[in-house]
Amino acid sequence: MSTVTLTTRRVLRKADLREANERLILNLIRQTPDISRSDLVRVTGFSASSVSLIVNRLVRRGWVREDRLESNAQTGRPPVALRLDADSMLAIGVEISRERSRVAVADLHGRILREKPLPWHPSAKVFLGRLRSMIQAEAAACGEGKVLGVGVALQGTIRRDTGRVTAAEGLGWFDVDVHGELSRRSRIPFYYDNNAKLAATAERWYRKPGSKEMKDYVFVTAQGGLGTGVVIDGRILHGADGEASEFGHTLLYADGRKCICGNCGCWEEYASDRALVRIYAEKAPGESTPTAGEIIDLARAGDKRALDALSEVARNLSLGFVNLIYALNPEAIIVGDCLAKGWDLMEGAVWSGLRQRLPQRYLSRITLAPEQLGGDSILMGAVANVLSHYFTTFDHQRDKQEKGDVTFVSAE
Ligand SMILES: [Zn+2]
Repeated sequence: MSTVTLTTRRVLRKADLREANERLILNLIRQTPDISRSDLVRVTGFSASSVSLIVNRLVRRGWVREDRLESNAQTGRPPVALRLDADSMLAIGVEISRERSRVAVADLHGRILREKPLPWHPSAKVFLGRLRSMIQAEAAACGEGKVLGVGVALQGTIRRDTGRVTAAEGLGWFDVDVHGELSRRSRIPFYYDNNAKLAATAERWYRKPGSKEMKDYVFVTAQGGLGTGVVIDGRILHGADGEASEFGHTLLYADGRKCICGNCGCWEEYASDRALVRIYAEKAPGESTPTAGEIIDLARAGDKRALDALSEVARNLSLGFVNLIYALNPEAIIVGDCLAKGWDLMEGAVWSGLRQRLPQRYLSRITLAPEQLGGDSILMGAVANVLSHYFTTFDHQRDKQEKGDVTFVSAE
């Protein structure tokens, strides 16, 4: 018997319900190693015949396979484990920044199978034209109808519903129709979001099985500036226009340095990769300036100027962390990109700054850590954005509910 809870103003079509239940089962198979049909009955509350119907459909389609395990000692019958055929469908992830742009193909577990770099070009039209060709070539190589979607991550603000960049100062893009350029002659769905927000998504999506699920945390990434993705109660904070959590542009010094956003004294002018390069250059005037990554390598090799520049950035980072902690009370702050690369060299100065400024009750609660995905959080977050739309988990499903869509609670 069907039980459907509606939080909706529209009528639910039977096909919608069937698809939602299918995705629910598929997601459970994805998340749970060696889950069986009877486990699915128990977990979902669906009837055994409903579970069988759905699983048989998924097996016929080639998305799920059944593997016989060793015989159960009590029943003598070999249990059958359901496993996702991870290559049966694919997702394309795109990361866009001046520093690093790339296109990757990932399987249903979100594992990157291959990736290609794309050199930066100052003309948005030229760059996006080249990117469109790369996406189309990768989709063709995947095979007809095998790509679930393309997830695009970029610096700045992009409208998730239209794929139009409102303002991406770091890229020099303003009012750019990214979706119009990328989706030409394509029927594949595209999903867009800001890079730091997607990096934050990746921390949840790729959580190791059995590890503690974080619900309130901030991801701070340094890629041509300082991006922050804020997760509150398991949801990415987008704000009214998708421009929330731009902590990189919150004020650190009222009469401070001019920032690319037009304001002065923004946090990212003092605590980002750009700041690290600038501070190092000021300590070595007239010399050629290394990149932020190279400065961290120099610091690791014992270079005094590089170590001093990194300490200064770490102290500035901690000032912004104090603001984040007071404003959001996160359980963790995760750092990415060059902040993760140099984290072991910066961690002491960051903690020392926090100890000077925060009450003890905050210090005993908070975790500071580098990203778990080794520099790939943004790209893998773009992939997760495709997969999470498909598997209808956390943010998107809840967003849909709040917009008057439906909640599916049991089987057909
Ligand atoms: Zn700014």
